[in-house]
Amino acid sequence: MTDVPTADQIRRAPKVLLHDHLDGGLRPETVAELAEQQGYDALPATGSDDIRRWFAAATEAGSLEEYLERFTHTVGVMQTAHAISRVAAECAEDLAADGVVYAEVRYAPELSTLQGLSLDEVVEAVLDGFRRGAAKARAAGNRIRIGVLLCAMRQELRAREIAELTVKYRDAGVVGFDIAGPEAGFPPTRSLEAFEYLRRENCHFTIHAGEGFGLPSIWESIQWCGAARLGHGVRIVDDIEFAEDGSAQLGRLASFVRDRRIPLEMCPRSNVHTGTVPSVAEHPIALLRRLNFRVTVNTDNRLMSQTSMSDEFGDLVDAFGYSLDDLQWFTVNAMKSAFIPFDQRLALINEVIKPGYAALRSEAVFGPVADHTPALA
Ligand SMILES: [Zn+2]
Repeated sequence: MTDVPTADQIRRAPKVLLHDHLDGGLRPETVAELAEQQGYDALPATGSDDIRRWFAAATEAGSLEEYLERFTHTVGVMQTAHAISRVAAECAEDLAADGVVYAEVRYAPELSTLQGLSLDEVVEAVLDGFRRGAAKARAAGNRIRIGVLLCAMRQELRAREIAELTVKYRDAGVVGFDIAGPEAGFPPTRSLEAFEYLRRENCHFTIHAGEGFGLPSIWESIQWCGAARLGHGVRIVDDIEFAEDGSAQLGRLASFVRDRRIPLEMCPRSNVHTGTVPSVAEHPIALLRRLNFRVTVNTDNRLMSQTSMSDEFGDLVDAFGYSLDDLQWFTVNAMKSAFIPFDQRLALINEVIKPGYAALRSEAVFGPVADHTPALA
């Protein structure tokens, strides 16, 4: 079908999110309330409206530094188990309300230890929040399965410790590992020992690469560290050239990424806001989709980028005229690329995602049906 999906259909379509930062997705009113409860007075605005506006201004930042400044304050109010659990619960509820049926949300536990929480306590608070949030969402009729990716900060030297924490909690809701933070100057091989440890432990991990730095970062992530997915990976286009007839010529690294079906966790709005890409319409996601890379669509930071999965899909529909078939393709790509066991990914694809899109397609023909929310196993 070629009909353009409506905003309402996009919201109701089952969606899968692999790249979302817990500290980038707080509700502004929660930031305001937690700051007040905790006597946190470093916020540059007071009251949830002003706080919302200040965070929204990050979308005009145009520089990574100004964009990243916002995280000082979200992390600033995430220093108690209660606060972290609340933020995680609201994250699960917000994603479920937006039609996300499966999510992997990432967080660097070392960021929440400023007031004495241990790394274990931070992880347990996140897991507790996700459990509570998913249960509350379910009671409201929105089913979501949500797991945690633990991040190490690439400028610090705690990657091995966080990798061990990932293995420790892998049967309790932690689904994998990542490194986050400044990419330029902190290549992934700096954390090589942690990646080698995770590989010996048969543990899944992704790496932020090809956002703030180019091909060498992507190459190290895949060929040295063994990343299963690439966080962003947008700069892989630097290894694609065009012949005079317009046909694309892939370099060896781009070919490898495509041949091995290495998932690209693309975050269009975030890339625009950090100045990586001039606009969504100029985002290489359309080219990479056309060339059949395993592209997925993600939010990165819902608060700082004023976005949601529905907004990201809506932008792509507006910019590239994508249909429900395209949105299903991105969604199935993401589900195939998740870090939960393969049989569980298949169950979500066959029992939730495909029936969900099929119902939306039939709606385009027969008109809306009362409730086609598919049951989630
Ligand atoms: Zn990210």
